Amino acid sequence: MIYIYYFPCSVFLFVNLMCLCSSSVPGRVRVAVRLRPRNAEESVADADFADCVELQPEFKRLKLRKNNWDTDTYEFDEVLTEFASQKRVYEVVAKPVVESVLDGYNGTVMAYGQTGTGKTYTLGRLGEEDTTDRGIIVRAMEDILADVSLESDSVSVSYLQLYMESLQDLLDPTNDNISIVEDPKSGDVSLPGATLVEIRDQQSFLELLQLGEAHRYAANTRLNTESSRSHALLMVHVKRSVKGRELAHSSQNGNSTNMAKSLRPTLVRKGKLVVVDLAGSERIDKSGSEGHTLEEAKSINLSLSALGKCINALAENSAHVPVRDSKLTRLLRDSFGGTARTSLVITIGPSPRHRGETTSTIMFGQRAMKVENMLKLKEEFDYKSLARKLDIQLDKLIMEHERKQKAFEKEIERITTDTQNQISEAERNYADAMEKERLKYQKDYMESIKKLEEKWMMNQHKLGERKDQTASTAEEVAELKKLLSKETSLRKAAEEEVNNLKSQLAQLKMSEASANSESLKLRKMLEDEAYRKEKLEGEISMLQTQLLQLSFEADETRRRLDRGGPGKVPGGLDSLISQVRPQVNDSVNEEKASIANLFEQVGLQKILSLLEAEDADVRIHAVKVVANLAAEESNQQKIVEAGGLTSLLLLLGSSEDETIHRVAAGAIANLAMNETNQELIMSEGGIRLLSITAANAEDPQTLRMVAGAIANLCGNGKLLDVFDKLQNKLRGEGGIKALLGMVKCGHPDVLAQVARGIANFAKCESRASAQGSKTGRSLLIEDGALPWIVQNANNDASPIRRHIELAVCHLAQHEVNARDMITGGALWELVRISQDCSREDIRTLAHRTLTSSPTFLAELRRLRIDY
Ligand code: ADP
Ligand code: MG
Repeated sequence: MIYIYYFPCSVFLFVNLMCLCSSSVPGRVRVAVRLRPRNAEESVADADFADCVELQPEFKRLKLRKNNWDTDTYEFDEVLTEFASQKRVYEVVAKPVVESVLDGYNGTVMAYGQTGTGKTYTLGRLGEEDTTDRGIIVRAMEDILADVSLESDSVSVSYLQLYMESLQDLLDPTNDNISIVEDPKSGDVSLPGATLVEIRDQQSFLELLQLGEAHRYAANTRLNTESSRSHALLMVHVKRSVKGRELAHSSQNGNSTNMAKSLRPTLVRKGKLVVVDLAGSERIDKSGSEGHTLEEAKSINLSLSALGKCINALAENSAHVPVRDSKLTRLLRDSFGGTARTSLVITIGPSPRHRGETTSTIMFGQRAMKVENMLKLKEEFDYKSLARKLDIQLDKLIMEHERKQKAFEKEIERITTDTQNQISEAERNYADAMEKERLKYQKDYMESIKKLEEKWMMNQHKLGERKDQTASTAEEVAELKKLLSKETSLRKAAEEEVNNLKSQLAQLKMSEASANSESLKLRKMLEDEAYRKEKLEGEISMLQTQLLQLSFEADETRRRLDRGGPGKVPGGLDSLISQVRPQVNDSVNEEKASIANLFEQVGLQKILSLLEAEDADVRIHAVKVVANLAAEESNQQKIVEAGGLTSLLLLLGSSEDETIHRVAAGAIANLAMNETNQELIMSEGGIRLLSITAANAEDPQTLRMVAGAIANLCGNGKLLDVFDKLQNKLRGEGGIKALLGMVKCGHPDVLAQVARGIANFAKCESRASAQGSKTGRSLLIEDGALPWIVQNANNDASPIRRHIELAVCHLAQHEVNARDMITGGALWELVRISQDCSREDIRTLAHRTLTSSPTFLAELRRLRIDY
């Protein structure tokens, strides 16, 4: 919550402050001279002498006799003769100052003069016995107390003695070294350590003075001095509140509001009257006759001489006034050259014996008269009381505000309640109105529905009438309908005709299709026939080759015999060849028979030993003989038992002769027909040797032999318990790779052997998988045979195609191969085989395989192929 207060008086205050600052008027130091009457001693001692001074009070002049014939004349502000009353002295010397103090100025009344000239008499007489004797101090206080109001004003005094630069509190003797504090801004001095006693009546003041005097006496006794050696200072603080009317008078703004008036700070005037009874102005004898050391003497007079110097400086308008040289000058800073109204009374005695002192006193007074002060009103606002007033005002305002706030909140609450009531009232009214409106509309709606129904009924009625009118039109429509149905039956007849024609066309197409399939069948039969023919041709060519070889060998033998007889031919073979020779040009059967004879006559062991003969030709002949023997199943067992197979394998590995390679491979192929031999061949590294041979061979016949041998080895499916081992070995020693490597020669015989090998391998793998001894993907696929299989599945040469078709069927029987077959394109071959294969058993196998594979079926479904 924020409170905002206004102070409309602030501007006014500011204006008044400005006024305060500028209220100063010039005021020269006033100096009066007072002559003491001759005392008893002087009356006697100076009886014969004239006074050293002659006063002319009417001219305010003083004539100082220098000698009997010469005088100096001085003018003063007042010249008070020995007959001047205390009252008059007060009135001319002090009263104006006291009045100024009461008006808010500082004022100083000071007595200067030689000891015994009446300074104390002038200032400090109490006049207890005779009131006419009352001195300036008492009279001043009387005037002050008479003028001030004790309710609003205050008068307080301090009473001090300055002796040897030590300031003592005459109202509290324990307080004997009071420090002077100067306000650095205003230059005003104050004595915060001095006792300040408020004066409320004259009697208490007189008692205070007596107390001070008693303390002064005691102090001087203690200090072993006289009062004439010390300065006495009485300070009277008069604080007065300026009356309302006076303030209003001084106000620049006559229209100030009541609020402003009430918040106007009280104006106070603080006048200070300083009454100074100086120490005697006479010089202290430098010899210290009065029991003081020189230092003490100097110190005693320090303040007085400093005062003289300051007054000299001020009188001469000197730039530097040594105010800070002594405590007295610091205390009287405002009295000379300051803002106070100052009145100095110089006291002199009449005695010509003291002319010197009197002269110096007069000169001091003369100089003091030249000192100009700028009187300044000591007026200020009483901000403390204003602050108190404002606090009270603030409290009132806060209370008022809180009261208003509460009232406001109550009002808000009331308004809120009223508003809520009004809102709910309005809501009720609105709801009522809405309901009324709704009912009205409902009624209207029902009425309009009713009207519409009536209208509809009327329309229906009218429509009935119109129907009668349109009867003739209906007849026309019936006629048209008839025409339409006629047209429709004609169209239907035409459609039937078209359908008939279509079915005839379909029948024609079907008969064409059956003719096509018939021709396909015939073509396949033709292909089979061609294949068989090819095979026979192949066999014929092989037999021809063998025949050629035999005739060549026979020629060779003959030539050798003609050249040098049997000595050059190894012994065993000699008889063998001689046995062979008569039959070389005979038929194959005759040859076989001769070989058999040879075998019987020479002995197997001998023939086999020739396989290791030094002579290459002999080795060639020997291997041919062994090959021929191995072609006969009845010889195979014997050859193997006699170590022929081992020898053949050794020869295959050691020889570099292509003929040996071809013939040996053929022999091994024949021996590999037997499953026992197959194991033996493989255990003796036959696959590796055949693979190497295949890699090095160029002759298609050699390759055909090698491929045939490997194909036979691939067909080892009988020993299923060792199947996986053998298959892995076959593959591990590069059998499949060797087969695939041989296809590059392109010879159909070689390709047919490769296809047979692959089909054999796939068949065995399939069996093993079915029996659970083989898991995982086909090794054929692993070794990369699939692309070749797919490429050749529909090979023109029927032996190749048939083997591959079988191989595809075997591979497809295992789901583990399905994914590879799909990606490799074998699925389409399988589909083709199942539909187009000329051999029914293969076709059936393909179809069964295909329909039992979820993967293939899913793929066909995915490709939206109806199978
Ligand atoms: P101071 O204070 O200057 O030393 P005092 O005031 O003590 O001198 O005066 C010395 C003596 O002279 C006192 O006895 C005093 O009563 C007397 N005296 C001084 N002035 C007058 C005067 N104007 N009329 C009568 N007696 C006076
Ligand atoms: Mg005195």
